Parts: sequence; C-alpha cells; structure tokens
Amino acid sequence: MRTAIVTGGGSGIGRAIALRLASDGHRTAILDLDAESAERVAGEIRDKGHEAMAVGGTDVSDRALVDAAVRTVREKFGPASILVNNAGRTGFDKFLRIDDELWNRMLAVNLTSVYYCAQAIVPDMIDAGWGRIVNISSSSAHSGQQFMTHYVAAKAGVIGLTKSLALELGPRGITVNTIPPGFVDTPMLRNSESQGMLGGSVDHHAELTPVRRAGKPEDIAAACAFLVSEEAGYITGQVIGVNGGRNT
Ligand code: NAP
Repeated sequence: MRTAIVTGGGSGIGRAIALRLASDGHRTAILDLDAESAERVAGEIRDKGHEAMAVGGTDVSDRALVDAAVRTVREKFGPASILVNNAGRTGFDKFLRIDDELWNRMLAVNLTSVYYCAQAIVPDMIDAGWGRIVNISSSSAHSGQQFMTHYVAAKAGVIGLTKSLALELGPRGITVNTIPPGFVDTPMLRNSESQGMLGGSVDHHAELTPVRRAGKPEDIAAACAFLVSEEAGYITGQVIGVNGGRNT
C-alpha cells in the first residue's frame, strides 16, 4: 500500500483518478481548492472501505499552501510516493485581450503548480528510492486551440517539464509521465460547451471522434492507474494520449 496525492481530486478526472487509486489499494489524499468537493470524494472512497483524506482549500498555485498540504498528508498517511498533478483551469480569451495578470494566473494554476507539487514531494520519493509522477496536460498542447493561448502554453510547458524531470529522476527510481486528455466529459468540458466554445455540442463532437463517444473520466483514471503501477517502471518521460483517436 502506497500513499498517493491527487490534486484537483474533487471533480471530473481527478475524482475518477482518486477513486481508482484508492480501489487499487493506495491511501489516497485529495488536494483541492474546493474543500466541500474534496471532502465529498474522500467520503465516497471511505464508504467503499478504502482509505482517503481531503485537504481542502489547497490552491496548488500557492507554494506555502502546497507545502502545508503535503505536510498534513505525510503526518496522517506517511510520505507520498505517487503524485498525480491534475488540478487545472481553462479560460477562453482572445489573444489581444489577455493581460499580464490573466496570463500569469493561467500559468500559475496549470504549470507552476506542477513544479510546486513535485518539489514538495520528490524528496520523499528520493528517500524511498521509488516514485511515480503523472502530470495531466492536454491534447490541446498537440493541436493548439483558438482563444486558449495561455492555457495551451501552460499545458505544453507541462509536457516539457515531464520529459526533463523524467531524465533527472530516472536514476532515483522515479518515473514521470504525462497524460494529455482529449474531450473528456467533465464539468470543465460542459462549461466550455455552455460558453459555445466547442464549436458544436458534446454529442456532435462525440460523433466525429474515431471511437464515436466522448471520453469518460474513468478512461484517464485507467491509464493513470497503469502508469503508477509497479509494472510501468520502464515507462518514463512519455506522453500517453487518451483521446479516443482525436489526436494521433
Ligand atoms: P474539472 O472538472 O473542472 O476539475 C478540475 C478540478 O481542479 C476542480 O476540482 C477544481 O476545483 C480544481 N482546481 C482548479 N484550480 C485549482 C487550484 N488552483 N488549486 C487546486 N485545485 C484546483 O476539470 P477536469 O475536466 O476534470 O480537468 C482535470 C484536468 O484535465 C485539468 O488539468 C484539465 O486542464 C485537464 N484536461 C481536461 C480535459 C477534458 O476534456 N475534460 C481535456 C484536456 C485537459 P474547483 O471545483 O474549486 O474549481
């Protein structure tokens, strides 16, 4: 049994990952901005007979809050050897409308957060001589996405960070991979649909997707569960697309 930390575990993909890792036998800690949803998911996991804790009010773009949350997890569940950097936020803004504050905020939530969380947890992984990091990026980093230059730049940064950190940490028994999801039915996707930013409904796009459906959060969780497993130890620095064939 290992200790796993999932950021943004109160909703969507992060919730599915937290549920899956807990059912695979890991003590699972959910770090989320929203205390209520983090606690709700931890409760769901405990109701199934697994171990979970929530550290709500953790803004992953704030280093002090990340460090404090990781200390809380360490005290209750012991050092974490699995980290899933999933928390993220989108936004749709015409390029010339983006100001420094918005740009910096988007990078802080989607990219700097990965750097903060990894720096807080990697020392424990090095001590253990074993670790698994999975960073949730985005298929938009491959395809580009109009009105999302800030978000896509941040997610492309996550891919570069993943590849470089994998090279550095490989000799310490730690793997680092990234899953760029594409078109997964979560509150984030439905929010984009309701803002008219998908260029059609979710159902319309599902019809155009090679596997003829939208992704489910559990699709991402399944890939993540494999990447954090013992048997995935020879996979590192990789970009494992889970997108129904929308990006190849
Ligand atoms: P979601 O349902 O909106 O869930 C995101 C979670 O992250 C929410 O619980 C949110 O909390 C939390 N969060 C946001 N900002 C945070 C912060 N600063 N600190 C801590 N937690 C924060 O979205 P999702 O679709 O599951 O997305 C999960 C990840 O997949 C994101 O990184 C997203 O960019 C990526 N992704 C998703 C898709 C897709 O098709 N859904 C595609 C590509 C990439 P609140 O509820 O308080 O906002």
